Amino acid sequence: MTQIQERSWIEIDLGNYTHNIRAIRAKLASGARFLQIVKADAYGHGAYEIARRAIREGASFLGVANSEEGMLLRYLGITIPIIILSPCLDTEISTLIEYDLTPSVSDIEFTLALDRFCEQKNVVRNVHVNVDTGMGRSGIYFADAGGMILKIASMKNLKIQGIFSHFAASENDSSYTRFQIQRFESILKQLPFTPEYVHMANSSAIVTAQIQFCNLARVGILGFGVYTDHSIKHHILLKPVMVFKSRISQVKHAYPGDSIGYNRTYTCEQRTRYAIVPVGYADGYDYLLSNKGEVLVRGKKCRILGKISMDMIAIDITQLDSIAVGDEVTLMGGEQEAVRCEHLAGLYNGSSYELLCQIGRRARRYYREEGKTISTSPLSRRGFVSKDFTDDKLGMIIESAISQRLQSKEIGSIINDVILKRFFIDRDREIHYKKDFLHTVRFEDSDEYPDYFRVYTELTFTKILQSDFFYVACAHNEEVLEKYFMRKDVEYRWLLDSSVPIMTDSFNVTRVCVNNHTLHHHVHANHTFLEIRCFHEILTKYVGQEVCFSISTQTYYPRIKKQLSIYISEMTKEAGIHFIYPQSVTSVETVPFFSGKTRFPAIHRSAQAVKIHTASDEWIFPTSGVVFVYASVLKKGTVVIY
Ligand SMILES: *Cc1c(COP(=O)(O)O)cnc(C)c1O
Repeated sequence: MTQIQERSWIEIDLGNYTHNIRAIRAKLASGARFLQIVKADAYGHGAYEIARRAIREGASFLGVANSEEGMLLRYLGITIPIIILSPCLDTEISTLIEYDLTPSVSDIEFTLALDRFCEQKNVVRNVHVNVDTGMGRSGIYFADAGGMILKIASMKNLKIQGIFSHFAASENDSSYTRFQIQRFESILKQLPFTPEYVHMANSSAIVTAQIQFCNLARVGILGFGVYTDHSIKHHILLKPVMVFKSRISQVKHAYPGDSIGYNRTYTCEQRTRYAIVPVGYADGYDYLLSNKGEVLVRGKKCRILGKISMDMIAIDITQLDSIAVGDEVTLMGGEQEAVRCEHLAGLYNGSSYELLCQIGRRARRYYREEGKTISTSPLSRRGFVSKDFTDDKLGMIIESAISQRLQSKEIGSIINDVILKRFFIDRDREIHYKKDFLHTVRFEDSDEYPDYFRVYTELTFTKILQSDFFYVACAHNEEVLEKYFMRKDVEYRWLLDSSVPIMTDSFNVTRVCVNNHTLHHHVHANHTFLEIRCFHEILTKYVGQEVCFSISTQTYYPRIKKQLSIYISEMTKEAGIHFIYPQSVTSVETVPFFSGKTRFPAIHRSAQAVKIHTASDEWIFPTSGVVFVYASVLKKGTVVIY
């Protein structure tokens, strides 16, 4: 782990988490699903990484505390259902709906407001009804639950996907737990319907209680390898997921009578060698561990001497040889009892839950599996520093920032994938792109000019209309063609072979349409080009809108050329290129050159056609295209067109 530069850090062992989840799932009734609780940043373990691993391990839901936590997971690309476990405020409703978060409901006013909002938006959303069967916290008081559930069930824009309750003391009070179970079951029995999900168990209850009528369990702390009671150890083997570490930053001596730390709460009775570790209560190492906690250095226990400071602690290393600045210190986590979370919290009569949440406030998390670091998180509580993120993650952040600004995920992804590259690299400030691009080129034998194919082309695509006119252009040489590629007002370009005189008979625009309106065209020509200006008064109405273009032409192509190239010159989403040819063409080889996500589009061959298609929703970069290399039977005699 040589890359660690921080004073303290957290190691999250995803392998251990996986082990715990599998052990916990083995305790569930067959067919029961699980919800992974990732509230409070997954008890300090990192909500995103835990969510991802939980999903891999089969989680059906995630549980968070509020809509902010849910929204963050959605931004990061998590798509499975997310339940907000505590009651939401009216102010959270629009976020709930926008990010598809499932509220738990227990207040009738809130539920009505939610139903109204959904009605306005014309959506139906799932809710989970929270019933208080004796926890005495959130939830509908058990005696009122039946009636209120029926009221909620009658709301048109809400669907009760689940009904749940929460235990007050499932880790150590089995009789009260049974009492709550009975209450919950009797409420459910009175209902005229059974919701898709019924859930009650938290981590402890999964191990301590049998709840036959539930089909979902909410897994929290046990997944992180922290026991809620000594007795649980006999039922399940869990491995701690989080380890909090630091390094020794100073080694020194004290003599009898010397005191250590604030308020002189520790005084040395003999010569003491001690070390300073640069973490304190501001890092989440609890103040109440003053003179109580122990840490591990080289696997050996060392006492805390004196009070925990905001940013430093002193540890006794008298019993250890050759301790040096830079040596690793384990403050919490791992297998050894002295530094297990449960043990440390027990020393000051605190809560393991709280200790997990507060530990590592200033630490970067290193996600590990089988001894290797697989990802890291930024230092928490730090403003945005782009180098905290990998390129992938940064890309995701930029993309979602842009999408949010534009209120369109699609445009956000175009800009991110493609336009930004052109913007910064090519410095091309105008954004053009095409969609549903289909270019069909049909060769036919020509009786008048046997050395040539008669060519019919048809191009259709959708694009935002930039102006009330545009050009179709035919170039007589590569140089002129190149110029047309640079021009943004040219929607179609064709290179006419130099053996064919350039005139409207040899390159004939037969029809140009925009949204099914046939446009007028006007030809301007010289010996190197034909420029066909396409226009119609109706186009002014469509400027700035996405419209459907269709352009048909007729031209000639020399048989002896033996190859035909079709280019895609703009950003294009979903492209098809069809080449249809007569029987005199004896073979066709297809050489696509595509850039974008996929470099190899699908190619379908039939008797007299080759059809190339990219996957739907896929962006193709400019400078893509295809070369068809063909062999054809030459007719006798050479005919030159005049
Ligand atoms: C936090 C929470 C849990 C998880 O509890 P653990 O003891 O960590 O398993 C389950 N249900 C609800 C409603 C919660 O708020």
